[in-house]
Amino acid sequence: MSGVLAITEQRAGEWSRMSLETVAAAQQLARDLGTNVSAAVVGGAEVEKLAADLASKKLERVWTVRHDLLADYTADAFTAAVEQLIRKTSPDYVLFPHTYQVRDFAPKVATRFNQVLISDCVGIRVDGGAPVFVRQLFQGKLNADVRAEGNTPHFASVQAGAFRAEQAEAGAAQTEAFAPQIDASAIRVKPDKPFREAARAVDLTAADIIVSVGRGIREKDNIAIVEKLAEALGAELAASRPICDNGWLPMERQVGSSGQTVSPKAYVAVGISGAIQHLVGMKGAKTIVAINKDPDAPIFEVADYGIVGDLFEVVPALTEAVKKIRG
Ligand SMILES: Cc1cc2nc3c(=O)[nH]c(=O)nc-3n(C[C@H](O)[C@H](O)[C@H](O)COP(=O)(O)OP(=O)(O)OC[C@H]3O[C@@H](n4cnc5c(N)ncnc54)[C@H](O)[C@@H]3O)c2cc1C
Repeated sequence: MSGVLAITEQRAGEWSRMSLETVAAAQQLARDLGTNVSAAVVGGAEVEKLAADLASKKLERVWTVRHDLLADYTADAFTAAVEQLIRKTSPDYVLFPHTYQVRDFAPKVATRFNQVLISDCVGIRVDGGAPVFVRQLFQGKLNADVRAEGNTPHFASVQAGAFRAEQAEAGAAQTEAFAPQIDASAIRVKPDKPFREAARAVDLTAADIIVSVGRGIREKDNIAIVEKLAEALGAELAASRPICDNGWLPMERQVGSSGQTVSPKAYVAVGISGAIQHLVGMKGAKTIVAINKDPDAPIFEVADYGIVGDLFEVVPALTEAVKKIRG
């Protein structure tokens, strides 16, 4: 086949939101290389229905990789199935969404071909006829270009939000079934019921205004300063991941790739640097205001209004000003 193959992700018939982003990334790479692109849906009986969704995209083929032993995820079964599909179709490039599941099995697939997984890519471009995969290093302070040359296939995963699902081009694709051979005795783990988080008490996705606090706040007790601004604005309080990891605010208030995705009318980021994992959760906000003492903080790249200053001075002053205006 050659070309590009996108391996999508689903669970119990529900798409991972990153599947279409991966299809968009694969289409872009194929377009830039002047080659073809296909996609695969891996799982149990539910793959048929999901493949029909993908058949409306501009793809050469949609592969349904179906087996009863793929109905519940295990690294051994998924590795075997995806390896067999790749051996049959011989793509030059295989793209995955950078999910927890992919982190678990895709490196194993790559090593079966004596390759590595170029993981968590934020961009892909073609330079001199070969793809260059862009990965972030040192918490996003540096971008590294990784060239994929030599033996194929090459394997890469794309970061949440790096490509836009709505950019996946529409078209018509043929669907073809692929039945992998999976030996039950080769599956070394027994899948348990998927972990379910407790129901969320706070629905940040419905908030019009969100004030979000980051590590710049230094300690838990200081969060009250930001809470007062949220109160004055009639906003929901949210946070970056370190704040929730520290237990300073509940997990349900975390915004980002492993938290909630929000699109309020206004998002005020206080002491948040703007790591990509945070940005993907909030860059859809209509207006973004950032308060940060570092003028080079990446949050200012997405902000509509930026205040460079010490939050311990800026936030109380802003709270007073809002109170005055709102009476
Ligand atoms: C797999 C994975 C998933 C992740 N998921 C998420 C996620 O869902 N959400 C998320 O947020 N992160 C997530 N992260 C973490 C992410 O990479 C960043 O580490 C995190 O977003 C940083 O949080 P922060 O901006 O609050 O802290 P920092 O990066 O430490 O930034 C603190 C900022 O505060 C500023 N500051 C310090 N003092 C002051 C002051 N007095 N006044 C004003 N500004 C000040 C600093 O200049 C700095 O920019 C994830 C990471 C990984 C690897």
